[in-house]
Amino acid sequence: MKLHEYQAKDILGKSGIQIPNGQLVTDSDQAAKVAHIINGPPWVIKAQVHAGGRGKAGGIRMAHYPYEVVMATESLLGKPLVTNQTGPEGVPVHQVLIESGVEIDREFYLSMVVDRDTSICTMIFSQAGGMDIEEVAEKSPELILKAQVNPAVGWMPHLARTLIYNLDPVPSPGAVRSLTHVMARVYNVFTTLDCSLVEINPLVIAKDGNVFALDAKISIDDNALFRQKEFLELDDPRAKDPLELMAAKYRLSYIRLDGNIGVMVNGAGLAMATMDLIKMAGAEPANFLDVGGGATEEMITKGFEIILMDKRVEAILINIFGGILRCDVLAKGVLAAAKKNDIKVPLIVRLEGTNVEEGRKILKTSGLKFLVAKDMAEAAEMVTKQVKG
Ligand code: ADP
Ligand code: MG
Repeated sequence: MKLHEYQAKDILGKSGIQIPNGQLVTDSDQAAKVAHIINGPPWVIKAQVHAGGRGKAGGIRMAHYPYEVVMATESLLGKPLVTNQTGPEGVPVHQVLIESGVEIDREFYLSMVVDRDTSICTMIFSQAGGMDIEEVAEKSPELILKAQVNPAVGWMPHLARTLIYNLDPVPSPGAVRSLTHVMARVYNVFTTLDCSLVEINPLVIAKDGNVFALDAKISIDDNALFRQKEFLELDDPRAKDPLELMAAKYRLSYIRLDGNIGVMVNGAGLAMATMDLIKMAGAEPANFLDVGGGATEEMITKGFEIILMDKRVEAILINIFGGILRCDVLAKGVLAAAKKNDIKVPLIVRLEGTNVEEGRKILKTSGLKFLVAKDMAEAAEMVTKQVKG
């Protein structure tokens, strides 16, 4: 679950990390009032979306007069924001954060993640803050510092000192103390909230020597939400893909991708293998959809409808290995969806396993137009041929 910047800053602020004074607004009338409450000039007006790269994309505005705060708010709320992380259609801006402008002396990158190779909580710190950290990692990897946290003892001050004393130049003693404090708080938030990411970019030393988190990203691990219930209300469904929302409602594992072949598969492993085969055949899947082992007829129907609702889908591949989910249940689910919706794209089916004969019979006698593949590789070839004309 991704949090917005203002929500993440609220959490960091409460944990004892300094953040600029700020307030969230949803229209320009509020912006006019807030401009008189929040210290300024300058003010910084920030689009609240679940995507980074806002600065370069015009989603972060600087204002020197209250009327500029209002104008910036109006223009941000009026249209979708396209950044290098959103795709060309952009994402809608429903909320804007107005905050005091901080006079920046130095910018750092700071984050905490679980390192996939070692399965250990790792802090990443860099003096090349503010900009694209992926680019820094590629071009000047020596500027990326890391500290792994021994899970038995937790965060230790010496980890912070090692990171900070590797900066060039080393900041003033006061700033070193503040940075050390921020690192310990970040680890604390990361572990107590079951986060998959806490990121502050930039973390800055201001001209007056104070250390501020100027941007913040927090993602809470979805699998831990059952014990982070108080944060559930921070979820913003408007920031999510409507098809993914619908899938979640029916407990389907669905992720939208960039291609044009809709896929419905049971089992995550089979789904990955199917997507690999489609790619090897030269096409791109439009989605990952694992209906799961215990899918009901209704879930199959909904899953199929979600694929049909995706306007980019030009062909559909159903690849089912019947186990607990029987092939006849799958066939009935597909038929139910086909009755309600006019299927205009080619459908390729590969069924094996429990009740496969019954499943095939149901599909064959249904009047539904589809092609049968004898195995997975052939299914991937056939569906690719359909979209490549
Ligand atoms: P994004 O990472 O999406 O581009 P940021 O919140 O990091 O958005 O803002 C981009 C840049 O704008 C920051 O690197 C910083 O230089 C500047 N900035 C953001 N907030 C403030 C602020 N409150 N005061 C001064 N500068 C800011
Ligand atoms: Mg940033």
